[in-house]
Amino acid sequence: MVYLGLYALQHRGQESAGIVSSDDDKFHIIKDMGLVADVFNEENLQHLKGDSAIGHVRYSTTGSPSIVNIQPLYAKTSKGKIAIAHNGNLTNAYTIYKQLKAEGALFHSTVDSEIILHLIARSIQNNIIEVLQDVLSQIEGAFSLVFLGETYMIAARDPNGIRPLVLGKRADAWVVSSETCALDLIGAKYIREIEPGEIIFIEEKKEPVSFRINRKAKPAFCIFEHIYFSRPDSIIFGDLVHRIRKAYGAQLAHEHPIDADLVMSIPDSGNSAALGYAQASGIPYEIGMTRNHYIGRTFIEPIQKIRDIGVKIKLNPIAEVLKGKRVIVIDDSLVRGTTSKQRVNAIRKAGAKEVHLRISSPPILYPCFFGIDTPKREKLIAAQYCIDGIRQFVEADSLGYLSLDGMLSVMTTYPKENFCTGCFNGKYPCKIIKKGKYSLESKGIKLYSR
Ligand code: AMP
Repeated sequence: MVYLGLYALQHRGQESAGIVSSDDDKFHIIKDMGLVADVFNEENLQHLKGDSAIGHVRYSTTGSPSIVNIQPLYAKTSKGKIAIAHNGNLTNAYTIYKQLKAEGALFHSTVDSEIILHLIARSIQNNIIEVLQDVLSQIEGAFSLVFLGETYMIAARDPNGIRPLVLGKRADAWVVSSETCALDLIGAKYIREIEPGEIIFIEEKKEPVSFRINRKAKPAFCIFEHIYFSRPDSIIFGDLVHRIRKAYGAQLAHEHPIDADLVMSIPDSGNSAALGYAQASGIPYEIGMTRNHYIGRTFIEPIQKIRDIGVKIKLNPIAEVLKGKRVIVIDDSLVRGTTSKQRVNAIRKAGAKEVHLRISSPPILYPCFFGIDTPKREKLIAAQYCIDGIRQFVEADSLGYLSLDGMLSVMTTYPKENFCTGCFNGKYPCKIIKKGKYSLESKGIKLYSR
């Protein structure tokens, strides 16, 4: 079941995958670099004995992707055997790392998640819930976590609830996942979101018991999950991603209308918003580009050389559809602008008379420190150029971004104040240690996790 769940979550990380199962006090681990389909096979899945398991798919952006960093992480601690899978980035990782190291801790990986295991091992509390209440109130930033112990599973979400985490049920088994699409695949029922700051303790054949992290914070759900990161068939922060993206597209049509012959998307990230734009504007929706599904999300590849090749083989414009047409092209976001420029050019080369680029999110002006792969400010095109400068860079005839207010106006389950929009306005939900004395980079240490 965990293997299948990871398949559904493959879009969240393509660098490595791992599963740890527990057969009472015996833990079994399979981890390797590569996609879920590369890492697991019928034979090695047989080794994962037991009736509870957790898994993880990972990608990283800096440093060399390394075997020691593959999650779930596992350790024998003073609190028993524990495996942990972490989604998000801790913002005070270096400060805690320094402290632990001075006290004699030995680190095996360079992921920030390892800090959590050390803090658990060192906690003076005995009961695992009290241990986690103690530990999770010390770490800051984004953490959606699952822990596998010898007799229990625990799920926890940071007090801001930055990354998603949901609870589901399949027959008498409880399931926890980043996205509901994994529940759908294994036939589990979506029960509810794990709440920000909640710790859920699950024991076999018992109802989950809910506890709180001893630190209150305002919800700051990552809006980029809705814009780009999550799958359109997932319910994230209470809303279906596809519906929200369509609403972004419709809002974009109101904010940036233009006369054209067709609306097309950059597949797959722009699909839902393009449909929304077409429906709201009354301009026909067309398939102007096909995507090769056998290569991953180009952006996620950690090496620039691979990324460039990926762009070329990934999308092919359909000349017969585009020839002589005034085309509105919808994509979900502009980051560096480099792939977008190539796509605009490819569409024009295929015969489009005019190319009008519409982006279903606001200009990205600041990096993310909470687990979304955005480059440094210098590399963000919107932080360097004005809108017309960006238009010239990507060589489009016109360019329009969805406004921040417009984007937030379509959210239905939670009020707009409950979203983190740090990548658009630099307002982050917690303190960020950037450059300088305590920065990770300045010490030559890369503690990162995705
Ligand atoms: P760029 O041409 O560099 O601006 O890249 C824009 C494309 O990258 C868009 O098609 C987005 O769907 C995609 N994108 C945006 N954010 C990310 C991310 N964090 N990881 C991978 N791809 C992304």
